[in-house]
Amino acid sequence: MNISSETNIRYLKGIGEKKAELFNKLGVYTVGDLLTFFPRAYESWISEKSIHSAPLNTKVCIKAVLSSQLVSSRGRGGLLLCRGLATDGPGIMSLLFFNNKYISQSLKEGEEYLFYGVLKLNDYGTPEMISPKVVKAEGNEYMHPVYPQTGSLNSTQIRNAVKTALDSLGASLPDLLPAELIKKYRLEGFYDALMKIHFPKNEEDILKARRRLIFEELLSLQLGILSTRTDASSASGKRIKTDYTKQFLSGLPFSLTSAQSRSISECVADMQRAEPMRRLIQGDVGSGKTAVAAALMYNCARNGFQSVLMAPTEVLANQHLKTFRRFFDNTGISVDILTGSMGAKAKREAKARLKNGETDILIGTHAVITDDVEYSSLGLVVTDEQHRFGVCQRARLREKGENPHVLVMSATPIPRTLSLIIYGDLDISILDEKPAGRRCVKTYAVDTGYRERIYNFIKKQADMGRQAYIVCPLATESEDGDENPFEEKSRLSAEEYIKQLSTDVFAGYTTGLLHGKMKPKEKDAVMKSFSDGEIQILFCTVVVEVGIDVPNATVMVIENAECFGLSQLHQLRGRTGRGSEQSYCILISDSKSEHAAQRLRIMCATNDGFKIADEDLKMRGPGDFFGNRQSGLPNLKLADLMSDTKILYAARTEALEIIKNDPQFSLSENKMLKVQFSKLFTDIS
Ligand code: ADP
Ligand code: MG
Repeated sequence: MNISSETNIRYLKGIGEKKAELFNKLGVYTVGDLLTFFPRAYESWISEKSIHSAPLNTKVCIKAVLSSQLVSSRGRGGLLLCRGLATDGPGIMSLLFFNNKYISQSLKEGEEYLFYGVLKLNDYGTPEMISPKVVKAEGNEYMHPVYPQTGSLNSTQIRNAVKTALDSLGASLPDLLPAELIKKYRLEGFYDALMKIHFPKNEEDILKARRRLIFEELLSLQLGILSTRTDASSASGKRIKTDYTKQFLSGLPFSLTSAQSRSISECVADMQRAEPMRRLIQGDVGSGKTAVAAALMYNCARNGFQSVLMAPTEVLANQHLKTFRRFFDNTGISVDILTGSMGAKAKREAKARLKNGETDILIGTHAVITDDVEYSSLGLVVTDEQHRFGVCQRARLREKGENPHVLVMSATPIPRTLSLIIYGDLDISILDEKPAGRRCVKTYAVDTGYRERIYNFIKKQADMGRQAYIVCPLATESEDGDENPFEEKSRLSAEEYIKQLSTDVFAGYTTGLLHGKMKPKEKDAVMKSFSDGEIQILFCTVVVEVGIDVPNATVMVIENAECFGLSQLHQLRGRTGRGSEQSYCILISDSKSEHAAQRLRIMCATNDGFKIADEDLKMRGPGDFFGNRQSGLPNLKLADLMSDTKILYAARTEALEIIKNDPQFSLSENKMLKVQFSKLFTDIS
């Protein structure tokens, strides 16, 4: 049968039903998937050094002849030992294998082998390899690929399958990069690149292959991002004629920080120009991003335009609604809400008010971008905590108006060069200042032995009129079922924990439960009574991670703190320290993991979100950091947005060029590119 990239892996020679299933477990379904299942690392099975000259105590490959047949004996505890000698002419090394029944039969005296392992000097001062990997020397001297998480398949089996696939596809494999680009950047062809990444002869092959494949990946990424963008230069935005910021401020219960004022002026200046604003506001938790958005939305309303604020959760949308209604009380500006959980009638009415222009400001969740939502004159789109929204969602929202102004607000700082690439041409304003009178949140990492003392501390704070969060990793006990066996056990669930404590330790205090599995209405009710101060102690999950603002809450206790990432912990902590009272964050963990300990140490050492994001990036690597859930970006197989910046810039230049010359991707050389980037983005839109 004719093999193509789309062929099911099961039809590849040497792979039956059973093996195909194992491949499926690795996410490999088609021959194409297999070809782009890239090695994680390589072992150099190239013997460059002799026994005499090879470095000791590190992995090396030695080519040598077995000079004496292996001899078996029994060691302590019945351990099977096999010893032998190998020589490369001038040098001799001894070989020792433990509990390897087959090795003495498979190695033959007088044959030449490659031995891959650590060379050491034994007690007699002679070179020795213990349990090396061994293959016949002939035809095997190259870089052996090591594949990631291979499950029940080993790297050799995967390698053989890749070989079969490449052999049967041959050079007929279509190359989706335009020939011109391949020439311009001196890139490998697709087939050659695949050969080199799976079967490199040397380091240089790997570099060449990676360069080509990364270029392709980043070009797809850029095309995907850029093609969701409407053309900023040609269409004009809703221009703001008069700056009403002063008027807005006179009704505000506080005065702005200078960072807030600066950001607002930057945005207003943008909106006064003919081209639409595209701006990103980065501000640490608690830096007051909402007030900035409100000032701009006020300006829009006064200039006769509608604006919309899109929040990542319903809880957050409802909170914003409350804040905005307070800000805009007695101004004649109407604020409305639209979320997925509203009843059909309420939704219909909200949409009607929006369409006929009654609504000036709309707050909502994803619901604000569904197809049947129409605006009468949308001038500004604000997305809050925008790293939670995919690129595609942002684009859809933008299409709702005639190229409205766009403001995205994020608490996750990322390097400037990267945001340029990831967010397109966004300008950036930074809120690097907190409102006056804020104190650092005192942070402590303790083990579960401290629980009694922590409970007492919470009670003391509650007696002083303050409130506390207790965050657990799980919502309910039943969630524990699909637990990863490698994770640490005994993760607490908020539901169980509140049951244990509310009638016992916290009897006499009002407690509440909040987690993502509750109905939206229940969540809102709980959130409302917490923010009204009726609930003193809130047991919850990371649903409170983003955006929640209850300034009277001064204690954040995080159970199983080892379960959370650094940025997540910082976000959680940021729920406190929002008023003038001293706040406390207590991280509880019995974990022995050094990684977890390091995260907790960093948390105790700094309150600075930019520093923490930096550390997080270093610890987790950009793949994870920019992973799909966080940023709305697709997962990249090879490219590293932090280190492949040169290729990234080249890919960006070319992507801009392609989109300029062929916006519909109708030229034959660009058609495949469209298929490719659409595939890249399908999972996340
Ligand atoms: P974030 O940047 O995390 O979204 P918010 O916009 O929720 O922060 O603001 C945090 C808290 O600080 C809110 O209670 C808000 O009312 C208050 N706030 C914002 N700006 C100021 C200011 N200039 N002075 C005093 N309080 C402020
Ligand atoms: Mg916020």
